[in-house]
Amino acid sequence: DAAGGAPVVLRGVAAAPGQALGPVLVYRPAAPVAPVLPIDPAQTSVEQARVAAALAGAQAELDRLAEEVAGALGPEEAAIFSAQALMATDPLLSDRAAELVAAEHYPADAAILAAADEQAALLAAIDDPYLRERAADVRDVGRRAARIARGEPAPADLRRLPGPVVILAEDLSPSETAGLDRAHVLGIGLSGGGPTSHAAVVARALGVPLVCGLGAFAAHDGQPALLDGDGGWLTLDPGPDAQAAHDAWRAARGRAAAADTGLRDLPAETRDGRRIRLAANAGSVADAQQAAGAGAAGIGLLRTEFLFLDHRPDEAEQEAAYRAIYAALPGCEVVVRTLDLGGDKPPPYLDFGREANPFLGWRGLRVALDEPDLLRTQLRALLRAGAGRAVHVMFPMVTTRDEWRRARALVDEVRAELAAAGTPAPAQLAVGIMVEVPAAALLAPVFAAEADFFSIGTNDLTQYTLAADRGAARVAHLYSPIHPAVLQLIARTVEASHAAGHWTGICGEAAGNPAWAPLWVGLGVDELSMAPAAIPAVKRAIRGMAAGAARTLAAQALAQATPADVEALLTAARAAET
Ligand code: PEP
Ligand code: MG
Repeated sequence: DAAGGAPVVLRGVAAAPGQALGPVLVYRPAAPVAPVLPIDPAQTSVEQARVAAALAGAQAELDRLAEEVAGALGPEEAAIFSAQALMATDPLLSDRAAELVAAEHYPADAAILAAADEQAALLAAIDDPYLRERAADVRDVGRRAARIARGEPAPADLRRLPGPVVILAEDLSPSETAGLDRAHVLGIGLSGGGPTSHAAVVARALGVPLVCGLGAFAAHDGQPALLDGDGGWLTLDPGPDAQAAHDAWRAARGRAAAADTGLRDLPAETRDGRRIRLAANAGSVADAQQAAGAGAAGIGLLRTEFLFLDHRPDEAEQEAAYRAIYAALPGCEVVVRTLDLGGDKPPPYLDFGREANPFLGWRGLRVALDEPDLLRTQLRALLRAGAGRAVHVMFPMVTTRDEWRRARALVDEVRAELAAAGTPAPAQLAVGIMVEVPAAALLAPVFAAEADFFSIGTNDLTQYTLAADRGAARVAHLYSPIHPAVLQLIARTVEASHAAGHWTGICGEAAGNPAWAPLWVGLGVDELSMAPAAIPAVKRAIRGMAAGAARTLAAQALAQATPADVEALLTAARAAET
């Protein structure tokens, strides 16, 4: 590149396949708040004037945003921002912030944040779902105005990118990733993050290449970059050959897609006749449609929280979404997971406070049981949408039998309520458990006596078994779903379910890795559920193996000490086959 320097190659972890070539956009979210240093009381009126100016600035930004959004998305979305613009003018907010400046000697940004937090806490305590949800809006207004008071520029709007770009960031949240401007995002490179973080899960579903764990690096907007989500690297200033390399990659991908089409209608059956159900993971109606196109046998994991990350959906909205997903795959099994909130997915409509370890905190079924209205509404919507068909529902992060029984009882309660009201019911109802906490795997025989099926969430099961955060680049070397400790838990789960006459699937990202398919088949897993785009390669792997040999391999893998040992067994088995 004429303007750039020598190429800089950065190694990371491949997290979503594909390649991207284009200019960099460096994404920096608003800076965290600095500790509050008291102001000189003589500056009180100056600081109060900054409060007023910052709130006026926030109002102007929000009005502009409302106008833009009205044109791009529609009046309903725009209303969110016009309501926030009004909040910025609320004297309750400005008066309280001015008071904090005078009485507590807070600087303008801290005074605005504190006043907004107070108001949000009041709203969150009101017994009205609409007002409670406004708490997040007030906080958001406070953050925006505080940023303006500090004189910081607005972070890039990921929903509306200026043109085709490769986004580079420290990390992205799942909702930032889900809201990405799909028309313009070419690829994503992250300094931090892990390949099973929800940002990576979303990127894979969107078909956006992603490399994480790149470590610290210097890059600037507009700098040319070549990102490889298969190999896990990023080249800055890749030089004049980059375009030719990228064109070659595109041509190869086109040929592979043509070969996959031929595979679409063939069964996922081993050479010795064992069939595996290959299903797709979905988080949107578009994913479900893509799953149908990829030849999925159904949906093994519907991540319902992805449908509603930014707002709390009512029963009618949920029912419509579930109906649309059922319609995308007529006659197919769809496993609906109830809202899995918390961890790296705190929605704005619930107050999670500050948690030291969110993945070990208020998450999944724990949230749902503490907010029974949320779960009840979801179950009602699901049972209504599933009238006349088979409905599969499962709960995330089940840890204790008590939790499971309470959740199961809620399903029966809702079902009875609907029946009493004469509402058409599902023809069949199966209630299952996500096995993603080691306790659930260890007590699989106890759970198998009461649940109808298991789906193993290897993303979480791995992080909880190995005590390695799935989103932390620094411990990514410890995180392996084929660690023998994880394999033993999977084996135990499958065994217990089969003894009770039930099926077990895997719906974590590990299900979509074709190199690991012999392990899952050998351990007796009945269903593998993955990003739709991963189905052809896994199907090819299954059609090329014998279940008998896979069983032997899996038995050996269970007796190993390290993931590297298991990897070596897999490599040796592949070599013996060819
Ligand atoms: C898992 O934990 O493996 C899983 C499939 O659920 P999620 O990735 O949404 O936590
Ligand atoms: Mg999980």
